[in-house]
Amino acid sequence: MKIDKVTDLYNKCIANTYSRYPVVLVKGRGIKVWDSEGKEYYDFVSGIAANNLGHCHPQITNALKKQAGELIHVSNLYYTLPQMEMAKLLTKKSFADKVFFCNSGAEANEAAIKLARKYSKDNYGNDRYEIITMHQSFHGRTIATISATAQEKFHKGFEPLLAGFRYVPYNDLSAVEKAINGRTCAIMVEPIQGEGGVNIPHRDYLKGLREICFSKRLLLIFDEVQTGMGRTGKFFAYEHFGISPDIMTLAKSLGGGVAIGSMLARAEVAKSFIPGSHASTFGGNPLSCAAGVAAIKAVDKGVLSHCKRMGNYFMRRLKKLKDKYSFIKDVRGMGLMIGMELSFPARGITEECLKRGFLINYTADKILRFIPPLTVATKDIDRLVNVLDEVFKETVNKGTVPVK
Ligand SMILES: *Cc1c(COP(=O)(O)O)cnc(C)c1O
Repeated sequence: MKIDKVTDLYNKCIANTYSRYPVVLVKGRGIKVWDSEGKEYYDFVSGIAANNLGHCHPQITNALKKQAGELIHVSNLYYTLPQMEMAKLLTKKSFADKVFFCNSGAEANEAAIKLARKYSKDNYGNDRYEIITMHQSFHGRTIATISATAQEKFHKGFEPLLAGFRYVPYNDLSAVEKAINGRTCAIMVEPIQGEGGVNIPHRDYLKGLREICFSKRLLLIFDEVQTGMGRTGKFFAYEHFGISPDIMTLAKSLGGGVAIGSMLARAEVAKSFIPGSHASTFGGNPLSCAAGVAAIKAVDKGVLSHCKRMGNYFMRRLKKLKDKYSFIKDVRGMGLMIGMELSFPARGITEECLKRGFLINYTADKILRFIPPLTVATKDIDRLVNVLDEVFKETVNKGTVPVK
């Protein structure tokens, strides 16, 4: 099918909420995808950090095939085996004792916000419900989660927002301390900010938040929707910092590319959820949990150490580009969650890379973001860095960027 026919039908029938790249993807294997005209691409976007094992990883595909022939969905009126298996794995791998399953990151954060409020009301009375969140954060697109997200561009046109959030600068402990009052019940933060521009916390920040939460009896909520499942080189990003939260949310790569989200909590906190408190028709359905179980098992020690090695290699190569081009302001990252800050909007660069057969992504306008499968090889990274070098060189030659 010709691309124009697809884009015409999209324009006619699909809500206009995305600015898509002009390519129809029809097939994927590992780090590669192909479009409807047979052109091959290297995928450094991974469905926005959701396919951390690459496309059609055999363990995920086989688990789905098997489960699809057994049982796809029955609702949470009944017990099912894949949900049990997945909860067992998640609680074994994390600080948490209990899991609530849903279908996306926004829903996972909705569950976290509800649990934090309920726990606080159960333990400290009705007037304690405020959650402190950070500038440049991103927690999803529902009304509650845009309210938690401290970026005005996500609020515009949807006011009034949900009450009960206070925003403070990221990486600033004293701002958090000043924002705490008698109504505060929790602090919610991404260990590494994703959509906000791949922002890395300073060494003592998360530990500092942990201490504040202990001393003020607040819940610490980590949104690991993007950083979880091995993305940063540890299974969960919090493991880098020697502390753990009270509540954590996961989605994106949790199902190896299949839609599933979850909210995890310590037993003492989770007990504020009782039958009737919260629910999801599809949450934890057998099909998505079968994929999730396979995905969790596939992200083993070998994949984690590979991710760390490839992340270091990738950063080194990108930093060499930074030495060469003065419009590259910063290269930062952890594992295979890497950002390159430019001094100009990054969309044009991603479009040039697409033409050359590379899917890369940008966020917060000026930040190129690299979130390849954790199984990416050095030769894939070399290919991309060479293409970036070529695109940057051309951009300079065309005189379209300000060069110092
Ligand atoms: C993507 C993302 C979300 C939202 O997830 P959806 O599945 O799109 O609802 C929430 N938090 C973070 C940190 C994310 O990266």
